[in-house]
Amino acid sequence: MNDGKKSDLVVIGAGPGGYATAFMAADLGLSVTLIDPEENPGGVCLYRGCIPSKSLLHAAQILKHHKQTADWGITFNAPKIDLEQLQNKVGQIVDSLTQGLGQLNRNRKITYLQGHARFIDSSSLRVQLQSGEIKKVVFENAVIATGSTPTTLPFFPENHPMVMDSTEALKVTSVPKSLLVVGGGYIGLELGTVYAALGSEVTVVEMMPGLLWGVDRDMTRILTKKIISEFTAVHVDTKVVNAKATGKEMTCRLSFKDGTTDDKAFERILVAVGRRPNSSDLGLENTKVAITTEGFIKTNEGKQTDDPTIYAIGDVAGEPMLAHKATHEGRTVAEAIAGKKVLFDPRAIPAVVFTDPEIAWCGLTETQAKKEKIPYEIARFPWAASGRALSQGISEGMTKLIIDPESERILGVGVVGNNAGELIAQGVLAIEMAALASDIGMTIHPHPTLSETIMEAADVFYGTSTHLYRPKRRKNN
Ligand code: NAD
Repeated sequence: MNDGKKSDLVVIGAGPGGYATAFMAADLGLSVTLIDPEENPGGVCLYRGCIPSKSLLHAAQILKHHKQTADWGITFNAPKIDLEQLQNKVGQIVDSLTQGLGQLNRNRKITYLQGHARFIDSSSLRVQLQSGEIKKVVFENAVIATGSTPTTLPFFPENHPMVMDSTEALKVTSVPKSLLVVGGGYIGLELGTVYAALGSEVTVVEMMPGLLWGVDRDMTRILTKKIISEFTAVHVDTKVVNAKATGKEMTCRLSFKDGTTDDKAFERILVAVGRRPNSSDLGLENTKVAITTEGFIKTNEGKQTDDPTIYAIGDVAGEPMLAHKATHEGRTVAEAIAGKKVLFDPRAIPAVVFTDPEIAWCGLTETQAKKEKIPYEIARFPWAASGRALSQGISEGMTKLIIDPESERILGVGVVGNNAGELIAQGVLAIEMAALASDIGMTIHPHPTLSETIMEAADVFYGTSTHLYRPKRRKNN
């Protein structure tokens, strides 16, 4: 086994958590080794997740916009879809980003090992390189950033061409006539949107009473209405309990809340019922690192595992499984290892589902406030009153603030509509800076923009929104 020189830090997994950790550590002067099976950093997010899915959603938007132009006096011929070119385009985007990350890695003089790592003990790893060579890496500290893998369902046959997880669905080698999406969460709804736009008849089955269960109902209602109009069927409170391949289709048994069942046949199935942490096959038994019953690596508030030299961040270390959470956790851990007094302690982590319309939220939700009996007041601004929304042909959408009635501090923000994923960053900043509703109301937002809906929602709280007549009920009248 080839024994390299000792690294201050070794990072296992080069997704947005791992590479951000490695980059930050190198920027702070540590010697860093980054290990991943892919040729360049990027992880699931760039190779098999966020970036390809958002590229396909962009293609879906082009197709949808094209259908919605007649009332603007513009019409096009029916679109032709070249799936091979679509895949090439997505591939080019992924290549350009991952190769860019490879260059950034080299600029920082980080040692990049393409291979699979296993712990030998609390200060060394055995790395099986892609070339077949075995290398021993000795480290001062290690960060595990190995991410997560799609969860499977036992009654769907493994490696069957009709059954896809998100990785296979992103390849879009063909467009099935009918697609069953099992799971009405992030992946099911985003990829369901792509396939519906490409021409599949999409059916969603969700076991909870609503899509994106846990997100405020007034927000998901707007999204659900649109999805129902674009998909063939949406079944909530429903489970798939069995599946059998029958010729060119797979017959799935849907089990409804009232106990009845129905057998339906689909050309293709997308299983999107969550993800599980990649904590096995790491040699953790050779260390003091402990895992929870769900397979997450146990960490303290500093993301340190039960083995003091080893840290864990991102999906493998717990919910929410979001790239930006992993990035910030990793950067903070790198700073801590470099000797800074820091802790990952965010007031708000934004969540965005890139459906049409997009849906985004951060901080306290109304659902959570009700459950935990936290006093709150809601201020909503409907997008039907936004000049910018209407001028883009959008009338459905909403911006919502959750406000502490006493201090008037912004506790939570929710946005449904175009670019909700961009707009939510203002909400995160407001919460992190402990902004009051009046701070947002007094901040001059550019006109005409969707960002004004956040300002106007703050004005709604005081009963003084310019474009919405909603007087505040005052105590003395
Ligand atoms: P998810 O948790 O968002 O949704 C899974 C859904 O499947 C849930 O609503 C659950 O109730 C349902 N479900 C579970 N078992 C079922 C069954 N047997 N039958 C019917 N429904 C069932 O998980 P996901 O969509 O697989 O995504 C995984 C993770 O990836 C998410 O937690 C998210 O953090 C991350 N992700 C984020 C983005 C983004 O940020 N835009 C996009 C994709 C994925």
